[in-house]
Amino acid sequence: MVDAVMFDIDGVLTVSWEPVPGAADAVQAVRDRGLDVAFVTNTTSRAAASVAGSMRDAGIDLRDDELLTATVATASHLRDRHHGATCLVLNDGDTGDDLAHLCIAEPPDTAQVVVVGGAGPTFSYDALDDAFRALANGARFVAMHRNLRWRTSRGEQLDAGAFVLGLEAATGVEATVVGKPAAAFFRAGLDIVGGEADRTLMIGDDLHSDVLAAQQLGCRGVLVRTGKFRHEDLEDPAGSPDHVIDSVADLPGLLDQLSG
Ligand SMILES: [Mg+2]
Repeated sequence: MVDAVMFDIDGVLTVSWEPVPGAADAVQAVRDRGLDVAFVTNTTSRAAASVAGSMRDAGIDLRDDELLTATVATASHLRDRHHGATCLVLNDGDTGDDLAHLCIAEPPDTAQVVVVGGAGPTFSYDALDDAFRALANGARFVAMHRNLRWRTSRGEQLDAGAFVLGLEAATGVEATVVGKPAAAFFRAGLDIVGGEADRTLMIGDDLHSDVLAAQQLGCRGVLVRTGKFRHEDLEDPAGSPDHVIDSVADLPGLLDQLSG
C-alpha cells in the first residue's frame, strides 16, 4: 500500500530544468491515484519560488506548499539553531528572498556560522579561504548538502560536497548537513505529505542521498536510471533500492504493481 510519493527533482523530473520525458504525466498519474505528493530537492542555486515556476513551465503540476528545497530548509535551520548569528554564505546562484533574513558577517572571516550551498564560480580561493579562517576562528559549519557531483546538460559537474570535505579536513570542524541525506529533511518531506514512512515512496537518482537515506527512515526507496545514476549503484555495498525503474515515466507502472 502506498499513500504518498516524494520526488527528487534534479535528475528525476528535470535535467538542467528541462523535463525528463514522461515526468509531467508521471506526476499527474500519481495525483490521479489520490496519492499525496512532495518535491524534496537539494537545489541551492535558485529560490523556491523560481524552482516552482520552472517546474510548472515544464508542465509539472506542483503546488508551492509541496516543495521543500535545501535552501529553505537551511533558512529554517539557521532561524531555529543560530538565530541572530552572523553568517558567511558561500552559495552559487540566486536564492531570492529565501535567505534574505540572514545577518551577513563583515568582514566575512568574523562569521559565527559558515553556510555552504551549491558550488560554482563563486567558490574562489578567496571565498574558500574566508570560510576556512572563519571556521578556524570557531564558527559553526552548516552545509545545505554534501553532494559531490551533479548531472547537467554539460555532463557531470563537481558539487559543493568536495569543498565541504576539504574545509572539514583543514579545520577539524564537522558540517551539519541540512538537505538530503539528513533525516530531518526527509521528516520535513513526510510532514508535507502527511504520510507514514512505510507507505511513502521516495523517488531519486542519487542512491545514497535520496534512496538509502529515505530507506533509513522507513520509506520505500525507488532509484531511477536517469540523472546521476551509474550502473555501479546497483552493486553498492551500502545498500540496495527497494525498486529500480528506467525513469520516472515508469512510476505509474510500478504503482500498479504495488497496488495489484
Ligand atoms: Mg537528483
